[in-house]
Amino acid sequence: MSEDRALSKLEASFAGELVQAGNGAYDEHRAVWNGSIDRRPALIARCTSAADVSAAVTFSRRTDLPLAVRGGGHSFPGHSVCDDGVVVDLGPMNGIDVDLDAGTVKAEAGVLLGELDRKTQAHGLAVPAGIVTHTGLAGLTLGGGIGWIQRKYGLTIDQLLSVDLITAEGEPVRASEAENPDLFWGVRGGGGNFGVVTQFEFRLNPLGPEVVAGPVFWPIEESPNVLRFYRDWIAAAPDDLMTIVIHRKAPPLPFIPPELHGKPVVAIVCCYAGSVEEGKEAVAPLKAFGSPVLDLCEPKPFLEHQAMFDPSFPHGQWYYMRACDVAELTDEVIDITVEHAMRIRSPLTAFPIWQMGGAISRVGEGETAFSGRGAGHTFNITAATAGSEGFDEEREWVRNFWSALEPHQTGGTYVNFLMSEGEERVREAYGAEKYERLKALKRRYDPDNLFRLNQNIPPD
Ligand SMILES: Cc1cc2nc3c(=O)[nH]c(=O)nc-3n(C[C@H](O)[C@H](O)[C@H](O)COP(=O)(O)OP(=O)(O)OC[C@H]3O[C@@H](n4cnc5c(N)ncnc54)[C@H](O)[C@@H]3O)c2cc1C
Repeated sequence: MSEDRALSKLEASFAGELVQAGNGAYDEHRAVWNGSIDRRPALIARCTSAADVSAAVTFSRRTDLPLAVRGGGHSFPGHSVCDDGVVVDLGPMNGIDVDLDAGTVKAEAGVLLGELDRKTQAHGLAVPAGIVTHTGLAGLTLGGGIGWIQRKYGLTIDQLLSVDLITAEGEPVRASEAENPDLFWGVRGGGGNFGVVTQFEFRLNPLGPEVVAGPVFWPIEESPNVLRFYRDWIAAAPDDLMTIVIHRKAPPLPFIPPELHGKPVVAIVCCYAGSVEEGKEAVAPLKAFGSPVLDLCEPKPFLEHQAMFDPSFPHGQWYYMRACDVAELTDEVIDITVEHAMRIRSPLTAFPIWQMGGAISRVGEGETAFSGRGAGHTFNITAATAGSEGFDEEREWVRNFWSALEPHQTGGTYVNFLMSEGEERVREAYGAEKYERLKALKRRYDPDNLFRLNQNIPPD
């Protein structure tokens, strides 16, 4: 069908906004979180309902225009925007419905993590999700979802009860343990390969609302000792305790004393998902180690802790990232980490090392499409610059660091932390067996690979 005719048909049924070049809001809606991505779609379909999503998917099929799906727009490689194609933008679909009797929450696919936390924390409840409040719930969940309470409550998908989805044919389908269980297996880690999710339903879990959480900082020269202490300390950590290690130059934020600004530091950031009293006891050994230059690990609202990283990862900076899992922080891994952390140039670069394990590792590897439940730590080697200046050098730093870690990697990588690294890396991330199962599912639900702007699992 011609593009003009297909557009007239779409306009007749579409309740949301259709944005094209020349429209005032075009630049705002085509921009994604990673400022290094600059693409110009032919049409941005700002959907308000599952019917709108179905109409936009049908438009893409009719015109053969490439289709990108946008939840929160945080894909590191920019998969949620494309040149000369259609963007199915779920941003306006941000309804959240907490059902206290059932202990569940339904969230539409345009919801951001901070919005979900605000609604659930009002009742002292939470869904385990990520660590930056402006990340999209949709993309994060479909890849797995790691965050501050993962060791207690598992991945985001471990609390997922059902999804409503629009297929490549434009048809609505529900997937849960009871309905289309094969599809439900696939959407829990398989990304957006099988359709556009319009709504998620999660189980709720008690949390806070006050928790013991926050970072303890040491000068970067202390990092070899801090990391060795940290490794031994977390060996016996309860599931309530989750930690992330950060190396960076201390940012000029209001809660950081001016004399530290720009100084390279190592920080261990904690979040204790149990009672405040137990939390204080659990973090006491960390706070007592060596001579921290700043200690912000204290009782605070979980919502405040959730927003802690927001200023470090704002929209529009240029970002590049490579990730990998390692089993343990061996002496060699620590030495490589410190050596490369010392070489960080950009004041905006900050890289997290995630503590994994706990509840995540007690779900069977085959139960969901997510891979890497046995990982000890996930390295998220992220570089950031304000713009193009210095970006190539910082990207080279990421690549060198990742390569140095190669002998120590498990081979698994969290798919939401992949760049555009090619099919072989996607296969490696899932492992050969799971990848074949995902391919079979793809042949069933999207044989023409309409949904290919993602960590793609081609059907053939
Ligand atoms: C600042 C920052 C912090 C992060 N922190 C965490 C973290 O704490 N934990 C964690 O697990 N991950 C984290 N991530 C990674 C994050 O999970 C992925 O970037 C994720 O894809 C973001 O989802 P989104 O909806 O914002 O992204 P988008 O860019 O909108 O989408 C990402 C991918 O998902 C697809 N997609 C989006 N919505 C749908 C849908 N409704 N149906 C089908 N496909 C869809 C898109 O097509 C695209 O391929 C972080 C990323 C950033 C940039």
